[in-house]
Parts: sequence; structure tokens; C-alpha cells
Amino acid sequence: MLQSTSIQYLKGIGPKRAKSFSARGINTIEDLLYYFPRRYEDRTNFSSISELKEGQVYTIKTEVLFGDQRNSWRRRSFSITEAVLADKTGKINCVWFNQPYLKEYLKPGVSLILYGKVELYNGRMQMNNPEYEFLDGEDDDSLNIGRIVPIYTLPKGASQRSMRRLIKSAMDEFLPKTKDCLTFDLRSRNNLLNLAQSLLNIHFPQDLALQKQALMRLSFEEFFIFQLPLVLRKLKRKEKKGIKHTVNGKLIEDFILQLPFKLTSAQQKVLEEIKTDMASGAAMQRLLQGDVGSGKTVVATIACLIAIQSGHQAAFMAPTEILARQHYAKITSQLAGLIFNGRKLRVGLLTGQDKQKEKIYQEVKEGRLDLIIGTHALLQEELNFKDLSFAIIDEQHKFGVGQRALLPRKGNNPDVLIMTATPIPRTLAITLYGDLDISVINELPAGRLPVKTLHFSQQNKEKAFAIARGELNYGRQAYIIYPVIEESYALDIAGAKKMFAELKEGQFKGFKLGLVHGKLKAKEQEEIMLKFRNKELDLLVSTTILEVGIDIPNATCMIVAHAERFGLSQLHQLRGRIGRGSLQSFCVLISDAQTEEARARLKAMVSSNDGFRISEEDLKIRGPGEFFGNRQHGLAELRLANPLTQMQLLRAARQEAIKLLNQDIRLEERPHQLLKEKLLQRFPEYEKLMLVG
Ligand code: ADP
Ligand code: MG
Repeated sequence: MLQSTSIQYLKGIGPKRAKSFSARGINTIEDLLYYFPRRYEDRTNFSSISELKEGQVYTIKTEVLFGDQRNSWRRRSFSITEAVLADKTGKINCVWFNQPYLKEYLKPGVSLILYGKVELYNGRMQMNNPEYEFLDGEDDDSLNIGRIVPIYTLPKGASQRSMRRLIKSAMDEFLPKTKDCLTFDLRSRNNLLNLAQSLLNIHFPQDLALQKQALMRLSFEEFFIFQLPLVLRKLKRKEKKGIKHTVNGKLIEDFILQLPFKLTSAQQKVLEEIKTDMASGAAMQRLLQGDVGSGKTVVATIACLIAIQSGHQAAFMAPTEILARQHYAKITSQLAGLIFNGRKLRVGLLTGQDKQKEKIYQEVKEGRLDLIIGTHALLQEELNFKDLSFAIIDEQHKFGVGQRALLPRKGNNPDVLIMTATPIPRTLAITLYGDLDISVINELPAGRLPVKTLHFSQQNKEKAFAIARGELNYGRQAYIIYPVIEESYALDIAGAKKMFAELKEGQFKGFKLGLVHGKLKAKEQEEIMLKFRNKELDLLVSTTILEVGIDIPNATCMIVAHAERFGLSQLHQLRGRIGRGSLQSFCVLISDAQTEEARARLKAMVSSNDGFRISEEDLKIRGPGEFFGNRQHGLAELRLANPLTQMQLLRAARQEAIKLLNQDIRLEERPHQLLKEKLLQRFPEYEKLMLVG
């Protein structure tokens, strides 16, 4: 009903309006009722002008004394509208930039409401660019003053007043007919308002306490609907028959014994979790979170050996060619001395540029390879396994959601381990990866010294080079990262190529320098990385191609040029390339950061080495939507709910989702019909999931 009635049904919405509303995602009455205010203004009492204080934000009700408009004398195209406004207690100046049409309305005697920050200008109170709302004396203003008033992000052509009127009239007609998708029992268990009350109070709160309750109820609903598909997928998976692995055996023991280090207790704990899953008859889908350098690869390698000793094959997918080759080199050398069933282990490498593709396909198909390591190339249709029982996806955030699902399909419900070095807070992990089980390595190997991070201005970059030279003189190695390959004069950014040539003849004359970036052929990239790894090169000039996974413990210094051009999590990943051994490492961020955001990022880097804290900070700076970059994750669906601040509510919603699906997995019972409709509307693929999954 609500979801099928177009907003054009409402008075005042013709085809043209409907179009601008549609651009904001409002097509139906339901969309409109779920179009929530961006903020509220308490207009039960206005502040009087005489009590305003500098630096504070106020809502005031005023009358125009005088209004005028002029063009800036510095920039002709820049218009400035000025007004003097007053209430019974005093006067205030207001200035608006580039809103020339305003002048027409700022006629003496006209009333308007202003919202903005008070500043002092030439000793007088002033508001710059305040939000305004004209009071139209003839109108019924009961929606606009004398109450807590909603402020919306406006569709084109709409005003706050028309928006309020529209929503109010939609509510008057449709609220009595709304049915609640949350059952009475569920609501009373969780102390939630019903839907009609919630919608009423989210738009036109009777008081702030009720607004808060409405917010809670509607956030709960969002979390709940978000969790249902995740929980369903998880329940379905547990039903499916997976492969029971032999998790303890000589091969594993031998491997662990010959490692040059002891596993940390966090690694051991996670390994136990993985073993439990792999031994069970259900298919594993586990997310392994761990900070950069926490030692995820060795855990993953052991899990591969579990698959091999159980007589199956394993696959290990990495996002870049460099990283795939590194894993291949390291793992083959670690496995070189091991004997299983009277033979050596057979490991293959498959990348996009491989000339021997056909041969590898054949070997994998016939089971002549135990483990195949590679890039996206592993997803190619031509690659078929004899018996894949375990798949690893390293640095999962570098793959699309669809890609992640492809590799496991090459086996018969294989166990899957998904790894990430961008750890996120638990509640957010549940929100996004609620269909996975989650393991965390929350400890670095013993003896690691935290990387010292410094921030230098552009002017002081020579000091940064001096630090790097110091490290090289001790026989250690360094990276210098530039944001681009070719320099940009327009943006005044140095590029890796040119700087390589300059540094070689200048600040680093006498040292051996290498250059690596994404435009080089894979073969060339590999040669340079190999030289660097073998210490034939002292310094590597590079782009962010080195961001993920690279593991060269002798590198103890990283300089990041134009650091303001990198995201926070990205900087942390880059820094993760050093500090990987027992030596003290140094990271120097060179930047004349201009924006507040960029400064916040650099500050976070200098003050913390902890990936969880960094990602939390990053989330705060960018918000979850930006942080995860693409829309596939559906975080945009959460309009009110915030997993970072409403953890309790999220947990409760997840518990209810589990409870409901355990009892009625297909949502067939009558009281669940409405919910099912809503779910199918939001997630059309849910139907398929319910039936097959
Ligand atoms: P990441 O979790 O970032 O993928 P890696 O798996 O590449 O980290 O491990 C980082 C480095 O730490 C590697 O050189 C690895 O050999 C080493 N390492 C792993 N586990 C331990 C441990 N328990 N003790 C000491 N060094 C370890
Ligand atoms: Mg790694």
C-alpha cells in the first residue's frame, strides 16, 4: 500500500516535482515517510538577540530592518547580500555569499528564522551564511514554529516549509493505515515504539525523549533488516555439507617445528578456531582480521597444509602480482624440506601474465599440484581443480564482493578463509560480515619495535632524506613512495619516475636505487623486487603498488611524499611495509597538508601504530560509507542506524534476527509476511537465498 502508492498521489506533487524527489530516492509514500530529517530545531523558545554569545550556534526569530546586495570588489562575480535584522531585544547583521536572489525577499518587515553561528565582525555580532526560513504570515505556521521542527535535505525546488507540509499530509492520511513489520512481541521484548508513533516522532517530535525513542526503533528496524540476509546465509551454510579435514598430523607438526619462530598466542588461538571449523562437517567461512605484520600468512599456510594432509588441494589468492609472487617464494621455501606421503609438496604459481598457463591448468586438474598460489588469474574459467577443499583470499578488501565468491565455487563447499589487514571494530564487522565467523590476531610477534612516525613539511624534506641515508649506511633498506608515476605540474606533485632520476644523481648518489610502479611489466616488477629482497638495491622508489602485503624485514625506513594525498588506512598499510623485523623503523610523512581532514589523518598516523585505532579514526573522519568505498556493501541502507554508536541496539537486532530465522527460516508464518515483503523489496535476491542459498 504505502510502498506502492506514488507520491504523485499527494496534493502539490506533479510530474516535475516527482522527478526532483525521485532524484533523492523518494518515489512512494513509504519513501517519503522514511525520508528522515537531517537535524531538528527547537523552536518552542527562540533565543533573543541580546543574549547571543560569540562562537555559539543559535536559532533566532527576526524581522528584516534593511537588506542590500553588492558584488565583491575583489571578485566581480562574487555577490554579497547583507541584512540587518532585529527582534525586540536587539539587532544583528547577516551576510550571505553568492545568493543574489535573496535580496528580493529581504524586505523591511518580513519575518524569518535564522540558524547559524554568531561571529564578531568589526565589534558587532554577525551570522555568516546562516540557514534561513521565511515565515509567511498568512500561512498556518503550526508546523514551523512553537515546536521542535525537522530540517530536511531538500529535493530541488522544495522548501523546508513545503516539505513539512507534504510529510504531514502524507502522515495524516497514511499513518493510520501503516502496519508494523516488527511484531508486538518483538517490540515489547526490546522496548520499541510502534511504527506509526515512531514515524510521527521522527518527523515532528513531541519532545526530545520521544524523538530519541523513535530514532531507536527505526534504527533497530534498519539493523534488523540488514542482519536478516546475513544471518540467513550463515544458517544456510551451516546446513550445507562441507569437507571434514584431518587437522592434526605430522605434516603440520613438522612445519611448525621448522619455523624460525614460535607462533604467538594470538596466532595459536586463531589456528585452533580454524582447525575446529575445518574438522567439522560444515563449510568454513571465516574472516581473519589482523593488523599489518601480525603474521596472518603463516597461519594461512598451516591451514593449506591441513587441506593437503587430508588429501585435497588448496588455493591462495592475492590481489597483486608482486604479492602473489612473494607468497609463492616464501611458501615454497618454507615447504621445501617437508615430506608428505613419501614425496615433496607441489606448489604452483598462476598469474595473469603466465606463459605456462596451460600446463598449470593441467596440473591442477589432474591433482599434480597440492597448492596453487596466484592473483585474479585463479578465477579464470579454465582453471578447474581435481579436489579443492580450502581457499584463501588475502587482502580481501582489494577484491569485489563478487570476486570473493568465485574462488570457492571451484570446489565442492570448500572451507574458506578471508584475510584482511584493515581491521575494523567488531560491531562494524558484524554489520558488514555478519554471515562470516570472525577471528582476530590481536598481537604482533614478540620483539617488534613500534615504527617511529614523523611528519615533516615540504621545506624539511632534506631531513627526511638524511634519515633514510642514515639507515642505508647501517646496511638497511628504505622505500620512498610517491602518489603518482608521472609528475603533475598542475597539481605541483612530484612523480616517482622523475624523482627516481633526481635522487639517484642527488641525495642518494652512491647508493643503489630501484624504481617500481604499476606501468612496468610484471616481469620487470618482479626483477626489481627480487633485487631489493636480495639487497642488491638499497632504496626503492615506488608508488602505492607496494601498499599491500610486501614483507622485507630489512627495510626500516619509509618516506611518503605528498602524504596528504593518501587515505588514512592506506598510509597505515604503506607503513606496514616497515617495522617487520626486530629493528627500529622510521616512517616520515612529508606534507604541507592544507585541509583539516588531511591534518587529522597525519596526526592519527603520528600518534598511533595500532590498526584498529587507525581504522576507527578513519571511520570517524570519513564515515562508514566513504571508508568502504563502494556501494555493494549496502551501508547506504543504514540511514539512521550507526553501528559505531549503537552497538547495543545492533546486538539486540542481530539476536532477534537469529531467533526469528531459527524459528521460521522462510518467513512463512502470517505475522512475518510484512517483514518478508519489506525484505524482498530491499534485497530482491533474498527470495533466492531463502529457497536455495
Ligand atoms: P601480515 O599479517 O601483514 O600478512 P605476514 O604474515 O606477512 O604479516 O608476517 C609478517 C612477518 O612476520 C613475516 O616476515 C613473518 O615471517 C613474520 N612472522 C610471522 N609470525 C611470526 C612470529 N610468531 N614470530 C616472529 N615473526 C613472525
Ligand atoms: Mg599479508
